[in-house]
Amino acid sequence: MTTAPVTKEQLAIHGGTPVRKTLLPYGRQLIDEQDIQAVVDVLRSDWLTTGPRVGEFEEAFAAWVGAKHAVSFSSGTAALHAAAFAAGLKPGDEAITSPMTFAATANCVLYQGATPVFADLSPDTLNLDPEQAAARVTARTKAILPVDYAGHPADLDAILKLADRHGLVVIEDACHALGAEYRGRKVGSLAHMTVFSFHPVKHLTTGEGGMVTTNDAGLAEVLRRFRNHGISSEARQRQSAGQSHYEMVLLGFNYRLTDIGCALGLQQLKKLDRNLARRREIAARYTTEFRKVPGVIPPSVRPDVNPAWHLYPIQVDRARLKGDRGMVFRALRAENIGVNVHYIPVHYHPYYRERFGYRGGEFPIAEAAYERLISLPIFHGMSDHDLEDVIAAVSKVTNHYAN
Ligand SMILES: *Cc1c(COP(=O)(O)O)cnc(C)c1O
Repeated sequence: MTTAPVTKEQLAIHGGTPVRKTLLPYGRQLIDEQDIQAVVDVLRSDWLTTGPRVGEFEEAFAAWVGAKHAVSFSSGTAALHAAAFAAGLKPGDEAITSPMTFAATANCVLYQGATPVFADLSPDTLNLDPEQAAARVTARTKAILPVDYAGHPADLDAILKLADRHGLVVIEDACHALGAEYRGRKVGSLAHMTVFSFHPVKHLTTGEGGMVTTNDAGLAEVLRRFRNHGISSEARQRQSAGQSHYEMVLLGFNYRLTDIGCALGLQQLKKLDRNLARRREIAARYTTEFRKVPGVIPPSVRPDVNPAWHLYPIQVDRARLKGDRGMVFRALRAENIGVNVHYIPVHYHPYYRERFGYRGGEFPIAEAAYERLISLPIFHGMSDHDLEDVIAAVSKVTNHYAN
């Protein structure tokens, strides 16, 4: 067997030296001493859960996004479930959503016994196309769940107008978009309900956690009950009022976020502006660099938004490369760049195929995008050195496969 001489530019996947020695993940949390101290303080206090930190975090969060109410949950998925419940989704109802998302967005409709109906995307943003969504409205449609893909807000004015025309509830899945702005307004009070996640790869973390924001006091009340077994008062209220009586008024869950998580969230919120600025700086640098790299199409941004950059998804330009997405992906992984694919379209998952009979071909824009997408690492704790490694690896790999 003969081996080619190992040169600096030889791809790691072919035996060359990787750009990095250790894997750079696509996303990760940033925790400092203040965060740790805040959690330790809660551990020494009387309330590990349903205590004072919960309300403090919710108020601070609502103020930050500019919404009247914020209700915390044990995860973004629990928050989506609660929003689907509060929207009144039930068996026989339909809710329109994007196939280019994490399965939880559509699953929350199924939790309520309702049917998720996918609609195809706008090719530039890979967000729900309002015209495609309009074409899917039926007499059974009750809600619409746009997803702010990668942190780029969905076309909310068009979606809200459509919802208004048909009396639909808009649940915005903003799990990628904490801090994003749409036409000068922050995501969080634009839809009837807006859902956030505090998983460690997101902009702010509580370990696991989520939030629904709304300007509607009635919805906020239902959301609060739903996360606490459907009980109409909370333990601490009863303790301070000296009462033991409580009533369960709807079928809820235990979806509460702990004081441990909320204390961490409060500290993380203080650093959110700085962390968002860093994500925007990284995205800007990537876009400047990748505009010059043949074979790579950087994500496009509409002029009326300021994205929050949860993800930085490039598309592989098959016309300018010998390899396909899979080859570029594997080569970047070998260089120790922790690339990912967001997302395999939801209707491709075996569960959805089997239950709803999808065969592929239903949503051509989402499906074609999926074949080209690669998420590059982006997180607020990324160093300049990490950033240069990603740029070097993408250039190295696309150079190799350039035709
Ligand atoms: C992260 C995420 C969720 C789920 O949030 P969890 O907190 O992990 O339950 C839902 N939708 C989208 C688009 C997400 O990115």
